[in-house]
Amino acid sequence: MAGLITRFAPSPTGLLHLGHAFSALTAARLAEDARGQFLLRIEDIDQTRAKPIYEQKIQDDLHWLGLDWPVPVMRQSDRHAAYDAALAWLDSLGVTYRCTCTRGDIRVALAAPQEGAPMIGPDGPVYPGTCRHAGHRAPDAAIRLDMARAVALTGPIRFVECGPLRQGVHEFTAEWLTRQVGDIVLARRDIGTSYHLAVTVDDAAQGVTLVTRGADLFDATAVHAVLQRLLDLPTPTYHHHRLIRDADGKRLAKRDDSRALAQYRAQGASPADIRALVGL
Ligand code: GLU
Ligand code: ZN
Repeated sequence: MAGLITRFAPSPTGLLHLGHAFSALTAARLAEDARGQFLLRIEDIDQTRAKPIYEQKIQDDLHWLGLDWPVPVMRQSDRHAAYDAALAWLDSLGVTYRCTCTRGDIRVALAAPQEGAPMIGPDGPVYPGTCRHAGHRAPDAAIRLDMARAVALTGPIRFVECGPLRQGVHEFTAEWLTRQVGDIVLARRDIGTSYHLAVTVDDAAQGVTLVTRGADLFDATAVHAVLQRLLDLPTPTYHHHRLIRDADGKRLAKRDDSRALAQYRAQGASPADIRALVGL
């Protein structure tokens, strides 16, 4: 079996744009250079936003770019049993709690004068901890990671970066993770899991040894490394790549259809043109 396994893991909530093409092409090239394997995974946990039509268009665009991957493709909407098992394990470690806060509650708590300016973590402003010791039992509450308890179990967290931007070993102290990342959501009340939990569980389930993703997810990777330690999963190597920006220097968004690959295709661009546009 192939040594290196990497993946492209899009959410089917819109059309692929140049930034996605760059990410997928980078992952596929890293796999090819190492004679490893490139996988596709569909990250459709948010069923209010994911659409089968986008999943189809994503696969069409990737095939058109010349990429190929083993089938059947892993789809996160099929994986809830695995996420529930991981949550039950984290719960048994005593590192989770239920949170009933609405976005509004969190905004109000963060605006309290004693809070000062909130730290910005991988999911936005760091949660102020309102429900940490509340002992909520509501079955439909969100589930958060008690980061202080988690890092008390794991100690400092490390991962190895092999991308050119920040190559080397990165270490995150318990203090940094508690202050700068905080009690992230493990399971949203509406979908029963979260990006962080699902991506961690699935990268391990697929035997991914190299995670290829955008540099915007660097701090999220620290969260995943914490979860890997708690769940006793291997920590892959990471390659965080540069982001593709538009002419104004803004990062490309899914809603920005002018940068959709489909638009370039419709205007007669070739896969080689796309590679050139993203600097490959
Ligand atoms: N579904 C995520 C995205 O599209 C995956 C990113 C990742 O974890 O590599 O942003
Ligand atoms: Zn709360």
